[in-house]
Amino acid sequence: MRVIVLGAGILGASVAYHLARAGAEVEVIDAAHPGKATMAGAGIICPWASQVDTPAWYRLSAAGAKYYPDLAAALAEAGEAANGYRCVGALITSENPADLAAAERRLRARHNDAPEAGQISRLANAEARRLFPPFREDLDAVHVSGAARVEARAFSAAMLKVAVGHGAVHRNESVGLRRDGDRAICLGADGKAIGADMVIVAAGAWAPEILKPLGIDLPIAPQKGQILHFGLSGIDTINWPVLLPMNSYYMLAFDDSRVVAGATRETGSGFDYRVTAGGQKEVLDFALAFAPGLRHATLLETRVGFRPAGPSYLPMLGPAVGISNLLIGNGLGAGGLTMGPMAGRLLAEQALGQKTALDLADYAF
Ligand SMILES: Cc1cc2nc3c(=O)[nH]c(=O)nc-3n(C[C@H](O)[C@H](O)[C@H](O)COP(=O)(O)OP(=O)(O)OC[C@H]3O[C@@H](n4cnc5c(N)ncnc54)[C@H](O)[C@@H]3O)c2cc1C
Repeated sequence: MRVIVLGAGILGASVAYHLARAGAEVEVIDAAHPGKATMAGAGIICPWASQVDTPAWYRLSAAGAKYYPDLAAALAEAGEAANGYRCVGALITSENPADLAAAERRLRARHNDAPEAGQISRLANAEARRLFPPFREDLDAVHVSGAARVEARAFSAAMLKVAVGHGAVHRNESVGLRRDGDRAICLGADGKAIGADMVIVAAGAWAPEILKPLGIDLPIAPQKGQILHFGLSGIDTINWPVLLPMNSYYMLAFDDSRVVAGATRETGSGFDYRVTAGGQKEVLDFALAFAPGLRHATLLETRVGFRPAGPSYLPMLGPAVGISNLLIGNGLGAGGLTMGPMAGRLLAEQALGQKTALDLADYAF
């Protein structure tokens, strides 16, 4: 079977990886738009602390978190050990003690079905600061030892590299689609058809534009996120945990003496790929309020990404109605780095006619 995967973010890369490993002939084509969400994403993997209470969202997020260690190990076995995945734990904190207590109860309840969340323990401030030194001096935290972070650029590149090792073709081009009866035809930049038995569209926030000529009106819009990178020259940040203060913001470290704080959630932004004064201030205010120890850090860069956001938290995964050879994956929103590898596996299983690890009916659109 020959499959075209349109888009090589975390989702398309995972689809390509799973299909190629299963022996399918795969061509993954990516336009590499500025603002590709996977290139900007923070990479926090800790669904058990989430306050989102949509069961199907949680099922896929939790399955995604559980799948990561196995997938990272499989990539390492295939020669891609530097894939950016690391289990570092997370500190959940709050300015409101009642909210922190509720978070601890939620974590302990979810832990029953998700032992991979690891140890859940209450930490006094000094202990929390030992793990994350810039943290402010007046708050306690709940530690979740199984939480992880992933540098999504590296992880996607690793999946693509292994896919290519199994015969997949990966190239950069902006392609389109047209309809021929009940089939989707992929068109190269030169307007010529690229033959395939199946097309899988994993084109993130840009998908509605591509799908329009097929008569599909996908309710997805870009939600801009600005995320700040701080440099802490000479400081070993490799094992610092993720910091989650129970609002829409967060902080985490990367391996190279870097701390990342994010992010704005700019609904209605369109594809406005600019770092703005307001966005910068919003994230800086948060970062310095919760980690005043970053005051003297170097401000290295601000990345901008467009989350593919749907009308609800639920991702959209599965066959397009009325088109026999088209699968769509989209709507991963703010949790796509957690769900993406598992969601890609589900789409690959569906394309191969296999039983999917989770029921895709929950993500029909
Ligand atoms: C600031 C920020 C922080 C985030 N932090 C986290 C986090 O901590 N944890 C978490 O779980 N998630 C996080 N996310 C969410 C996550 O990054 C996204 O949900 C995820 O990356 C979406 O992946 P995707 O593959 O669907 O889309 P994308 O990564 O956007 O990839 C889509 C690809 O399709 C390509 N494409 C589009 N049109 C065409 C075309 N015509 N032809 C060929 N290719 C095309 C694009 O160029 C692009 O490369 C964050 C997002 C942002 C913006």
